[in-house]
Amino acid sequence: MRLRSKYSFFSLTALMGLVVLMSYVIGAKKNQKKLGGELPVKPTRKVIMDDTEWKEKLTPEQYRILRKAGTERPYGEVYSAFKKQGSGKYACAGCDTELFSSNEKFDSKCGWPSFYDPSQAKNVKTSVDYILGYPRTEVVCAVCEGHLGHVFTGEGFDTPTDKRYCINGTVLKFVPDQPPGSEKKSHKPAAPSN
Ligand SMILES: [Zn+2]
Repeated sequence: MRLRSKYSFFSLTALMGLVVLMSYVIGAKKNQKKLGGELPVKPTRKVIMDDTEWKEKLTPEQYRILRKAGTERPYGEVYSAFKKQGSGKYACAGCDTELFSSNEKFDSKCGWPSFYDPSQAKNVKTSVDYILGYPRTEVVCAVCEGHLGHVFTGEGFDTPTDKRYCINGTVLKFVPDQPPGSEKKSHKPAAPSN
């Protein structure tokens, strides 16, 4: 009897030890998975600057458009440059956030850079304005709240969305894909300018 209880005491201790060890191993494995399994979530950051800081960072024309909801002259220099640009991304001149890309660019012949969709939807916000006396959907950078242009729907363009993001090219920074010399995957050569 005594021997038996001693024996069961030992086996119970051994069992408990095993359980502790197992849970430690499982926990360690879980931690490992947590560390190596997924990419860190990008924090949602907002760029907030006062008027003086914006004036320092931007050209007067960029400031007028981004911070005062201005509009550039149609068919200007920026527009002709835009039409010649090949594949690449378009970032906000106020905060360098990617907003559009050449994949969604199309020629609406309206005199301003046109896209049928943002390339990074979360970085582009819309709201309704009545500046001209009727409702228009304003397009704003979600990160710095800068005014980019307007979006019009259902105009009959042969694009996947039939939307025209009519954007002021002055407030877009073009970042070409594959700068010369880089050997990133080359699926499409840059479109020749004409
Ligand atoms: Zn911005």
